[in-house]
Amino acid sequence: MPELPEVETVRSGLAPRLVGRRLDSVTFRREDLRWPIPCDAIAGLAGSDVEEVSRRSKYVLVRFSGPSRPHLLIHLGMSGRLFLDEDVREDPEWRLHEHWRMGFGDRVLRYVDPRRFGALDLCEEADLGEHPLLAHLGPEPFADAFSAEYLFERSRGRKVATKVFLMDAKIVVGVGNIYASEACFHAGVRPSRPAGRLRRMDCERLAESIRGVLAAAIAAGGTTLRDYVGVTEDTGYFQRELRVYGRADEPCGVCGTPIRSAVLGQRSTFHCPTCQP
Ligand SMILES: [Zn+2]
Repeated sequence: MPELPEVETVRSGLAPRLVGRRLDSVTFRREDLRWPIPCDAIAGLAGSDVEEVSRRSKYVLVRFSGPSRPHLLIHLGMSGRLFLDEDVREDPEWRLHEHWRMGFGDRVLRYVDPRRFGALDLCEEADLGEHPLLAHLGPEPFADAFSAEYLFERSRGRKVATKVFLMDAKIVVGVGNIYASEACFHAGVRPSRPAGRLRRMDCERLAESIRGVLAAAIAAGGTTLRDYVGVTEDTGYFQRELRVYGRADEPCGVCGTPIRSAVLGQRSTFHCPTCQP
């Protein structure tokens, strides 16, 4: 499942290839993915230019020209991939599970999603903050609003396990299961510790570790980008850098104690009992 680093990789691959280009055709092969697609409204963007490609949580936002500054919201769901064909002379054949495509001169953006949990929507800039998919989201991990002080304040009185707390998108977006385990390891915090018992120092380390593991994953994802924009179904490229995730019974790289696995909030969790008291 694409996580924040994969989506950021997609965003950074698309931005230089789409910004300044004019949308000249939109074709849908179905009218819904996870939810209905506003096909007519999106087709009405034809003739507008792409002004910016940004990201909010795991949504890629493509801003078009026009007085209302319309944003296309793209979510990859569980298995979605975006491909950008360049130097296209004639319409490429449709791939298996390709659901929509958009033409930008000699470039074609194509969306392929076997499981169809992805989403495509359109929203004017003024309404983005209230969009039902975005309204409840906490700060971005790289934003100034996400700080040690913020984590400390939000965790007061909370009995929920630290790892479950960090994976709550209302607290901070983009900290998936793998990254939450890794961040707890780097911060020296046991994932099961009640969030309300985090000290200021722990929050400082956690905020720093979350940014660190996500930045490393984004850097690794960036290296897989070649002539297409896409994400793979697994996170293999990041696997070698994982310190605890998926390493049950292997010796901890710092102290040699066997890594332990447990289930927290129905998700598998890994920690070093010595390094993470
Ligand atoms: Zn250890």
